[in-house]
Formats: sequence, structure tokens, C-alpha cells
Amino acid sequence: MTYDVTIVGAGHNGLVAACYLAKSGLKTLVLEGREVVGGGAVTEEIHPGFRCSTLDHAAGPFSSQVAADLNLARHGLEMITPETRVLALAPDGRHGCIYNDVGRTVSEIEKFSANDAKSYPEFVNSFSRIGRVLAPLLSMTPPSIDQPTKTDLWHLGKVGLAFRGLGKKDEYRLLRWAPMAVADLVAEWFETELLRATVAARGIHGAFAGPWSAGTSLGLLWQAAMDGSAIGAASYPKGGMGGLSQALANAAKAAGAEIRTSARVAQISGAYADKPKVVLESGEEIEARAIVSNADPRTTFLKLVDPIDLEPGFLLKMRNYRAPGVVAKLNLALDGLPKFRGVEDTAKLSGRIHIGPEIDYLERAFDAAKYGEFSADPYLDITIPSLGDSSLAPAGKHVMSIHAQFAPYKLRNGDWTTRGEEFAGIVINKLEAYAPGIRELIIAGDLITPLDLEQKYGLRGGHIHHGEQTLDQFFTFRPLIGWAQYRTPLKRLYLCGAGTHPGGGLTGLPGANAAREIARDFKERKV
Ligand SMILES: Cc1cc2nc3c(=O)[nH]c(=O)nc-3n(C[C@H](O)[C@H](O)[C@H](O)COP(=O)(O)OP(=O)(O)OC[C@H]3O[C@@H](n4cnc5c(N)ncnc54)[C@H](O)[C@@H]3O)c2cc1C
Repeated sequence: MTYDVTIVGAGHNGLVAACYLAKSGLKTLVLEGREVVGGGAVTEEIHPGFRCSTLDHAAGPFSSQVAADLNLARHGLEMITPETRVLALAPDGRHGCIYNDVGRTVSEIEKFSANDAKSYPEFVNSFSRIGRVLAPLLSMTPPSIDQPTKTDLWHLGKVGLAFRGLGKKDEYRLLRWAPMAVADLVAEWFETELLRATVAARGIHGAFAGPWSAGTSLGLLWQAAMDGSAIGAASYPKGGMGGLSQALANAAKAAGAEIRTSARVAQISGAYADKPKVVLESGEEIEARAIVSNADPRTTFLKLVDPIDLEPGFLLKMRNYRAPGVVAKLNLALDGLPKFRGVEDTAKLSGRIHIGPEIDYLERAFDAAKYGEFSADPYLDITIPSLGDSSLAPAGKHVMSIHAQFAPYKLRNGDWTTRGEEFAGIVINKLEAYAPGIRELIIAGDLITPLDLEQKYGLRGGHIHHGEQTLDQFFTFRPLIGWAQYRTPLKRLYLCGAGTHPGGGLTGLPGANAAREIARDFKERKV
């Protein structure tokens, strides 16, 4: 049977693309290499009775437009959004909480600094206004640099008008901030180190960068475009991140798409001509009119496509696409709720928990990665999703998900197969310093290293976002300049994953944008 579209990978973006393409009447097949759908958005059992979001632990946030278009609530998606965004811990036992509610947050900040408490509302409002102007860019196909179409110009014109509507102060802020080091930006607003570091962490999350690296403020602006705030919210699907993927898979199947798991694609061939096909590791060959890759750009072009099909200039640029992984993930099954020093109210643990109390701490953590070593004092972003979702652990017990950075993919001494345990020990020691006694609560644990991210989860180089999200790999430059419109030099091969605009995170937007372009090409009989 020949399909209109074969999608390689059932990450959430592959599934979103499948939903839209099947809804537009195209016969769509999704091939997932792993035994479960979801890519980064999966929930798996880490110990009998304990289920944890294996990789992602807080949604991007997922696009409300995509959720509504695909009717995900009807297909089982239920989101849990705690009032606490982030609990920031200081080594001396003090802590500060950032809530969705600005007034409540101001009261928390007052404990540290009256000046910061005064600045915070304007900080939030300014990012919210700027975020509103940037938001339309997220669901837009980046314009072609060489030949912008009338639609490209129309959309950009609308953004330009909104930009003019910001007023001079915010206009200048937006232009100044994007290339700035996030450490400089937060220092302009706040004097409390803990607050500076907690806000700045969003700019370096998943990136091979420290807070003093140029361009790291971009992460805050992009976060604001996605959910109106520079400080990422904690938002979980019920049942863990796999709950989102299951709802997407249900929606895709209801729209007529076929999904096959344990079907790893070994090769994409013939996509430059009229008969593209994928070859599975089993040797099975499947033809389609178009192939869409949800795998990251380097996996797609440096592993799945025969280099002979590609022009050397393109190949060289793809080899220079930067995707150095810096994150390891530790998932723990706990015998009870850990007690963090100084934190009495357990509701404060329901969002993200931040360990990385100073800008210098974060920068030093990055320094280690720069020189090929994992950090002895890593920056940790933690969630305890079982606090808000009792389906994840037996009564009274918990699962804890720890995003540990910096853990570079390439180690100067030794490798991840021999040194993973050592890093897990460092992370647990760090947790113990903030939550004494946690070690005794650990029933089971699973460390996922950057090497595992490559070998098991298909992320070449172990980068959590399929590639760095820096100014040179952004918008019209993502993944490469000239190829930001989900099309590729091979006329029947498209990209739909986080390596395309608007990048990583569980937003569903790369998949939705790609599907729109692919459906248009089918309609205009270009494929
Ligand atoms: C450790 C970690 C923590 C993260 N934390 C967060 C978080 O808290 N919040 C957030 O919003 N984002 C987070 N992210 C980022 C987020 O996971 C990604 O941005 C997102 O998963 C990208 O979705 P995707 O569908 O584009 O690709 P992926 O989720 O990577 O999916 C790609 C799919 O393609 C499949 N595939 C690859 N090659 C082949 C092949 N040859 N044949 C068949 N199938 C193939 C893979 O198995 C995978 O299922 C995290 C990522 C990681 C790794």
C-alpha cells in the first residue's frame, strides 16, 4: 500500500503533523523506532507502581490553538497547572517562590529585597507586552530570505505594526535584549542573586551556554512569546508527559492516520525524485508521495539520507549545525515526600524546583562543560509530579524528575558508560544538601545520560532541543538559512521536529507549521 505521507518518528511534533495531515485528507503513516510513541514526551514505569515522565517534565507550554484544533481534551488530554511556577532554593535554607499570581510573588520577593519586589510587576508586564508581539511569529512559517512571498510580507507587516504599537521603551528593550547575555539583563532588573539566577536559568535551559554567554536573553523572550511570562510555568498532563502523546496518538488515529511502533527507519531514499521510500531496519520498504522527518536535522541528513543525494555545500552546513547535548536526566522513585530545608508548605513543591542559587554558580556549572567535564555543582530543575497526580505513584510515595545540567555529551576523560554513576552520585549529593534525608527515601533511580539520549532516544549529539536555539539557529535560520520553511533540498522530504521553527519544547508548533506547508504543497500539486 502506498501512502501520501510517511512520517519518520512519533515524537509529539510528528504526531501533531500526522493529525493535521490526516485531517486534510492525506493517507498518513507514522513510523516510530521505539516501542512507545511520544519521543521526549513519554511516561514510563521506573519501578513497579512508579511512573515518571522519562525525559520532559513540564510542557512547553503546549499550544492552546493546536490543542483546540485537534480537540485533545476529547482525546483524553487533561492538564494540571499548579499555582507555583518555581520554588528557588538557597544553600542557607532560605527560599523564594514565583507564583502565577504576581501579587503573591511580590510578597515572596519582599523577604529578600524591597527594590526587587517593586521591579517585579514591571518586569512581568514588560515581558508580557513583548511576548504578545512575538507570539504570532511562533505559528508563522519563517519568510524566505531570497524570495519572500506576499503572505510572508503580510505576516511580517502585521508583526511590524504590533512592534510599533509597543511604544518606544518596550521597542528598545526588545531590540536590546535579544542579543544580550541573560546575566546582564537580570542584573538590570534585580539585586537579589537568587532571583537573578532563577530567572536567568530559563535563558540557558538545555543550552551549551552559561548566563554570561551572548544571546542567552533570547530564551526569556521566546518563553514570553509562548506563555506571556519570561519564567516558565510548570504544567503537566495528567498521567505524565505520555498523557499528551497518548491524546495526540488517539487524535491522529481518529483522523485516519496509521501509527506503527518498533519500526525504526534505517534509510530515506529517492526523496529527490518522484518515488521516495523509507527502508526499515527490518528491511521492509515503504513508499509514499512525501516523507516527513520528525528526527533531528543531523540524524535526518547525516544518518538517514544517503550523502550522495545531497549537495556538498548543504552537507557542510548541516555538519556545522550545532547540537551539543548538556543535559542528563535522573528519575527517582521515592518512599515518601522529601523535606526541603526551610520549606514547610508542600504546595510550594508542586511546580518546578530550582537549584542554582547564583549567576556565578550557573556560569561555573557551564565552565565544566566548556572544558569537557560534567559539573561538580550542577544546575538542577526538579519536579515532583506525583504531588498533583496520584496516578503516578502508590499512596504516600512519590516520583521525582531531575533535569541536571551541565553534563556534556563529549567528556574529555572517560565516557558516559563508565562515568554515569559518578554523575548520578553528584546529583544525589546536591539533592541531599537541600533536602537532607532524601537519600534514604530512594527506592529506585534511573539516570539517562546524553549518550543514552542519542542511542536510545535518537537525539544525535544528545541535544534536548534537536539543536542549539541561538540567534544563528533561529527563525529564518532554523535549521539552516534558506531551509527554514520545513522543506529541504530533497523535494519530497520535509522536516517537522524541534530542529525547525519555533524550536524545542512541548509546543506542538513545529509539527503544526510543517503540516500546513506540506498540505499546501499537496494542494498545489508540488508533490
Ligand atoms: C532530558 C530532556 C528533558 C526535556 N525537558 C523538557 C521539558 O521539561 N519541557 C519541554 O517543553 N521540553 C523538554 N525537552 C525538550 C523536548 O523533549 C523536545 O523539544 C521535544 O521532545 C521535541 O519534540 P519532537 O517531536 O520534535 O521530537 P522528539 O520528541 O525527539 O521525537 C522524535 C521521535 O523520532 C523518533 N525517531 C528518531 N529517529 C527515528 C528513526 N530512524 N526511525 C523511527 N523513529 C525515529 C524518536 O524515537 C522520537 O520518538 C526535554 C528533552 C529532553 C531530552
